[in-house]
Amino acid sequence: MRVVSGIQPTGNLHLGNYLGAIRRWVRMQHEMECLIFLADLHSLSDYIPAEERRRNVHEMAASLIACGIDPDVAVLYNQARIPAHAELCWLLNGTARMGWLNRMTQWKDKAGKNREGASVALFDYPVLQAADVLLYQATHVPVGEDQKQHLELARDIAQKFNNDYGVELFTLPEPLIGETAARIMSLRDGNAKMSKSDPSDQSRINLADESDVIAQKIRKAKTDPEPLPEAVDGLEGRPEALNLVTIYAALTDRTNQSVLEEYAGQGFGQFKPALADLVVETVAPIRARLKDFDAHPEALEAILEKGSAKAAALGAPTLEGAYKAMGLR
Ligand code: ADP
Repeated sequence: MRVVSGIQPTGNLHLGNYLGAIRRWVRMQHEMECLIFLADLHSLSDYIPAEERRRNVHEMAASLIACGIDPDVAVLYNQARIPAHAELCWLLNGTARMGWLNRMTQWKDKAGKNREGASVALFDYPVLQAADVLLYQATHVPVGEDQKQHLELARDIAQKFNNDYGVELFTLPEPLIGETAARIMSLRDGNAKMSKSDPSDQSRINLADESDVIAQKIRKAKTDPEPLPEAVDGLEGRPEALNLVTIYAALTDRTNQSVLEEYAGQGFGQFKPALADLVVETVAPIRARLKDFDAHPEALEAILEKGSAKAAALGAPTLEGAYKAMGLR
């Protein structure tokens, strides 16, 4: 089993990113061979100034390692260091069909009414994604609901390439369905997801937040005056209460029900400090490692360089195979 998974490099990671995405990888790396990459080539579909892109890649890499991705266990790299991603994307562009890409929901959503003004990279995005996983003969790709269609497309491209050129070059990757990740909501509005794009910093716990800031954000988190119920159905219509219980449960690897059994009948005056302690316990070591990287950016460079060299070696035979199959070598 070989898993390949990418994440768009962005700065300012929060508890939602950690509990909803990163933690799954941290666990996965010990269970199977994992290649984890920062999708900096994908970020080209929007204009971002160079300095910001560079900073985003660094912040994301630092955050992943700070959260527990071990670069000696998982292969961690950014796409742009490995020319094979862009090369294989171009080779697969000969196989991918306009009609397939035109049907992609993400393309339709993101381009909206302004298709003429959208970048070619936005349209071609799923082909680069196909290259990202086919290059490494990934057997499995962890996908959320929104990415299932792109994985199907990667399989279609792989299948058509193998058929057209009469080779068995590409492995058809399967979706990796994991535990359903917690969806963490804003601390100010239990119906909105915790997000870095929320204008209110009070709405989220950033992985770089100091402990007193975390405690204060949780103390001020929106709630209701009712005590916690005995069972989960008692949280219906109480999105803020549900969110705090969900965070507590995710951090302790328990179910919401089990948390309620412990806190039933207690108010938020008791629950919030307990939750704040837990969040602080989780975030403090992550923040400390982030600070280390701030002080030693060259350490991060070295890690990405090493990861990229490993990944490049893993991908080289497949790229070579594709060139040969197409009569280019
Ligand atoms: P943001 O909404 O802050 O811009 P991204 O869209 O960059 O976050 O998401 C990066 C990853 O983190 C994705 O895998 C996404 O599913 C996960 N994620 C983001 N926000 C949350 C959240 N509030 N709860 C759970 N997972 C989240």
